[in-house]
Amino acid sequence: MHPADRLSGVELSLIRQINALATPLSVNLGIGEPNVEPDARLREMAARAATTSWHYSANAGALSLRKKLCAGLPFDPKSEVCVTAGTQEGLFAIFTAFVNPGDEVLVPNPGFLSYATLAKICGASPVTYDLDPPSWQIDVEALRRKITPKTKLIIINSPSNPLGAVIAPETLAAIAALGPLVVSDEIYREIWYDDRPASMLDLGAHENVIVLNGLSKSHAMTGLRLGWILAHQSLMQPIVTAHQYVATCASVFSQALAEMILDDPDWNASWLADVRAQFRAQREAALYAIRHELEADLAPPAGAFYAFAPVPSCDTISFAKTLATDAAVLVIPGLAFGTRGQGFIRISYAASAEQITAGIERIGRFLRASGL
Ligand code: PMP
Repeated sequence: MHPADRLSGVELSLIRQINALATPLSVNLGIGEPNVEPDARLREMAARAATTSWHYSANAGALSLRKKLCAGLPFDPKSEVCVTAGTQEGLFAIFTAFVNPGDEVLVPNPGFLSYATLAKICGASPVTYDLDPPSWQIDVEALRRKITPKTKLIIINSPSNPLGAVIAPETLAAIAALGPLVVSDEIYREIWYDDRPASMLDLGAHENVIVLNGLSKSHAMTGLRLGWILAHQSLMQPIVTAHQYVATCASVFSQALAEMILDDPDWNASWLADVRAQFRAQREAALYAIRHELEADLAPPAGAFYAFAPVPSCDTISFAKTLATDAAVLVIPGLAFGTRGQGFIRISYAASAEQITAGIERIGRFLRASGL
């Protein structure tokens, strides 16, 4: 049986392929989720969440949760927010709602691979806009030149996976003013170091901006699948329709837990401060080892938990596979994030400082031994 045409050319992501090479001896710096475990308070909330209703919620999510997600924001909880099974499902619902075959979707290069893949699944063409080292900032004029009558969505991601780069508020405003629908993936917004990253939400309600967020990264709840979408009601209606046919509703257990988290702002603030402090220490360990072992002086990433490090020019896919098999360290080849990732590897510092140091030392030893 042939899979449907929409899946032709869509493979298990390179990230999964590299992770499949892991052995018990591997140091894993390929990870895309926080190395954080729930504290006693979060576990107690989860235990309480398990005692609440197990029935369906409204498709868009429990209204009580939607009200909390809209608190202080110019969005109507009844018609302008949709709770999703993680931001990944949110992205799928948004693409299903708006992208037709033949459309173009502007995606960052390097950028999170799902954006281009979802465009292809919808029969559209991903059109990349380039981000350049060392700052990886968006050149808004260059982005404007990529817009055609076929452009349906512009996808932005700040803080970025795989770059850790953050988009400045004036750039966000300029992108919102370009015209096409903008999808702002802000899943790493709570993981930052010096300044809290700007959000499209700070710009007030925009009729052409869709904002995605969730609890996967901020609360290390990747397996509980809880995300949300905020957008003007004219955009939200087709999104909720698509979401209904993908997920019906997000897990009511995860929704109840999200409400408890939002109901306890003091605990939440201290949890987030602790998460940031842990990632800050791990970021320092990664930058130090990258400087000494890979001889690269990276500007500290402003958010998320990834260092996009240059490696000697070579095919980074086979390089990352060789590192996995011969040096027992997992990193993601930059090419997994687009052509502009050639020559780079993504080192995740969502690992203990010891693992980070050991893993990057293994890469350095491998490079020296192979004369690269
Ligand atoms: N967006 C980006 C940029 C990501 O890195 C990820 C997770 N790797 C997601 C979205 C999806 O996150 P989730 O579905 O767990 O909310």
